[in-house]
Amino acid sequence: MTTYETVIGLEVHMQINTKSKVFCECSTQFGAEPNINTCVICTSQPGAIPILNKKAVESIIKTGLALDFTINKKCTFARKQYFYPDVPKNYQITQSEPPLCSKGKLAINIDGKNKVINITRIHLEEDAGKLVHEIGSRKLDYSLLDLNRASVGLMELVTEPELSSPEEAFEFLTELKSIVTYLGTSECSMEEGKMRCDVNVSIRPLGQREFGTRIEIKNINSMTGVKEAIAYEVQRQKEVLGSGGKLAQETRLWEAQEGITKSMRSKEGALDYRYFPEPDLVPLNLPDSFVEELQKQLPELPKAKKQRFVKEYFLSDYDASYLTSNIHLADFYEETLNNSKDKKLSAKPLANWISTELSAKLNATKIDISHSPVSSKSLAKLVDLILNNTISGKIAKTVFEDMYEKSADPELIVKEKGLVQISDESEIIKICQEAIAESPKAVAEFKAGKERAVGALVGLVMKKSKGKANPQLVNKILLEQLKA
Ligand code: ADP
Ligand code: MG
Ligand code: ZN
Repeated sequence: MTTYETVIGLEVHMQINTKSKVFCECSTQFGAEPNINTCVICTSQPGAIPILNKKAVESIIKTGLALDFTINKKCTFARKQYFYPDVPKNYQITQSEPPLCSKGKLAINIDGKNKVINITRIHLEEDAGKLVHEIGSRKLDYSLLDLNRASVGLMELVTEPELSSPEEAFEFLTELKSIVTYLGTSECSMEEGKMRCDVNVSIRPLGQREFGTRIEIKNINSMTGVKEAIAYEVQRQKEVLGSGGKLAQETRLWEAQEGITKSMRSKEGALDYRYFPEPDLVPLNLPDSFVEELQKQLPELPKAKKQRFVKEYFLSDYDASYLTSNIHLADFYEETLNNSKDKKLSAKPLANWISTELSAKLNATKIDISHSPVSSKSLAKLVDLILNNTISGKIAKTVFEDMYEKSADPELIVKEKGLVQISDESEIIKICQEAIAESPKAVAEFKAGKERAVGALVGLVMKKSKGKANPQLVNKILLEQLKA
């Protein structure tokens, strides 16, 4: 049996995060009424002249700089021609050679090891409109055209065929999304179609130098979809070759519901597009200072932020990685820290609260951290209440439930429900005495040398105090009394 190696290259389209489209002033707002955001330019009226959005160019260059690309300050736009029912002018304005950015790279972490993936290019491209074949669940016997999306700015990033497993492709996209959302140059939400990924997959016998036949998979709309589609496709290709069959270069569609890829069309060659220079846009010729200025504007990126979190807040590698995996999460953490009384003391407990309790709730309720019902101020207060011994960690968890459900203030909850921890020694001594009097068996066991028997007494004291006694004090006082 032949052992095969998998070869994967990705083409990623990310919607550039600008208020207006790339060649006109129409809004890029998501989910608007059909054809509301249109004008003569983006509806392809004859003679309408595109006007380049400067912010879109800046966004692509920033993305390129963050990924170690060479920025081509001199570049042009091209028409990519095609029969497009969703672009009335029948060509898309894009870039051919050279693109705005050439030769970048991104390191991914696979099984604890770094692997650098080379990225061929990032170029600017306008989006197409959308054909509508159904309204709600009603299938139409005609098609409608919605041009809201036409001429929305995209950056298309193309990798070298250097990824070798579904997991590597997943990691690559996760890292890319993390960096791009840090930059703010795209929101990268696959659900809203703001990040789309075509996957190219081939297999070849291990050790063979020439590539196998490449199959392109389109229509993937989630990160896990990418992983599943590749895994399916690799298996399918192995079966075809294994049974003596041949693969033809083609484009296939991922059918998420069935978990399979289906043939869509055989692959047309690049020449079919008849690229030619766009006569309505002058070539770009950017001064050095333009790029230098953007370089200065780059924010702290995930890797640097992670290192800073470890150094500045003494977080573990794991905590720092988790908190910096998403810019909103990292910002929330730092906001919470800034709201807490003692940064040094609360750095670690806050990291824990965010990565466990809060994240679990957010995941369960499918809410993004940027819309967290628990504000950074409230969470800081809760941890302060634990640190200054007003409440125990255990009580804090029940307070947190209320904070999440009702966006309530922790101090108010603690006051209203009378949850303040009992730290008054005389009061605790009284409860401890009661507990000792009621538990002759545990006391006898303790005196016979079974130290663990004290646990039962602690439990009883906590129960009697409704969880409010300060556990450290309870322990100390019980031991004192038992040893007396
Ligand atoms: P097209 O426009 O025809 O899709 P592109 O050059 O835009 O071509 O994209 C080619 C993509 O396919 C790149 O990501 C590249 O890395 C990848 N690729 C090229 N050859 C192979 C191969 N044999 N197996 C897998 N991926 C490949
Ligand atoms: Mg392609
Ligand atoms: Zn327009």
